[in-house]
Amino acid sequence: MKVAIFSTKPYDQRFLEAANHRFGHELVFLEARLTAKTAALAAGFPAVCVFINDQLDAATLGAIAAGGTQLIALRAAGFNHIDLATAAELGLTVVRVPSYSPYAVAEHTVGLILMLNRKLHRAYNRVRDDNFALEGLLGFDLHGSTIGIVGTGKIGQCFAQIMHGFGCHLLAYDIHPNPNCLALGVTYVDLPTLLANSDIVSLHCPLLPNTHHLINKTSLQGLKPGAMLINTSRGALLNTNDVIAALKSGQLGSLGIDVYEQEEELFFEDLSNTVIQDDAFQLLQSFASNVVITAHQAFFTRNALENIAHTTLANITDFAEGHPCANEVKLAHH
Ligand code: NAD
Repeated sequence: MKVAIFSTKPYDQRFLEAANHRFGHELVFLEARLTAKTAALAAGFPAVCVFINDQLDAATLGAIAAGGTQLIALRAAGFNHIDLATAAELGLTVVRVPSYSPYAVAEHTVGLILMLNRKLHRAYNRVRDDNFALEGLLGFDLHGSTIGIVGTGKIGQCFAQIMHGFGCHLLAYDIHPNPNCLALGVTYVDLPTLLANSDIVSLHCPLLPNTHHLINKTSLQGLKPGAMLINTSRGALLNTNDVIAALKSGQLGSLGIDVYEQEEELFFEDLSNTVIQDDAFQLLQSFASNVVITAHQAFFTRNALENIAHTTLANITDFAEGHPCANEVKLAHH
């Protein structure tokens, strides 16, 4: 099938081309993000392949449908940025990669925790500067600490298994408790109980209308004072301004994020020669000791990119051959 691949980075092209030997699709790589303005580039392509910061609003969907597109293949798991109701009305099929490596995201989450707890970012810079003092680098044992996991699906479960290995107590909140987590000894509680009792809270639930700004002024007030908050899920799970206020007051001890609510203006690009206009982001960056930000790289392992490429192309083949696709995103998912 002829596929227009939007938001292409060199690594996308490398992994998709390697996987395509088995599928033989006609892949056309475009650097542009898919938006209503760039939708004309998709004209004549029955399939488009998009990533998480492509804009799949009603205007864009209308334009690509008019140009003859029938399939949107997401090379990601999250689909919160697609107007599924409009896609359904226009007869556009949406497929995604529901699971490609929960290990990648769970392991990066642990990386953020270790970095913040033991101040590895500061230690690295200090030693390079011949400053061998330890003041300011004090951490705590993860062993015996309490971890609160919000969302125990594929990634939350992997994360629980890793933290179990560290000897942590595990609390979780999920609308559907996971039997594998229960077997591991995870205790399911309600969200306020989780927030009040956890030394580290890590978010692994999807972004949905009912999880938007799940972490806000009220929930932050219920946090164990000085707790660490980690978000490798979706930026809008946090109200950024409320989080900044909680960091300033000390109610929130530290913050590790791989996702940011306004990240589509920033992430995946080299902006080192420009002036960043996002004041909240700049303010977060100014907490040198207790805030660590990575730019949506939790998924970024070789294994995950191989799986993403393979599943994306297999999804496209299913559609091209008229087979039902298990990875189709239906409106009912909401
Ligand atoms: P999953 O569907 O396997 O698990 C999500 C879990 O969240 C489910 O158990 C579900 O019951 C639970 N949930 C749903 N609504 C909830 C609510 N209101 N409160 C609490 N729990 C709720 O998904 P997954 O593969 O584990 O991925 C989790 C999220 O991680 C994705 O939605 C995506 O946004 C994010 N993600 C981020 C990256 C990254 O690179 N940073 C990569 C992949 C996925």
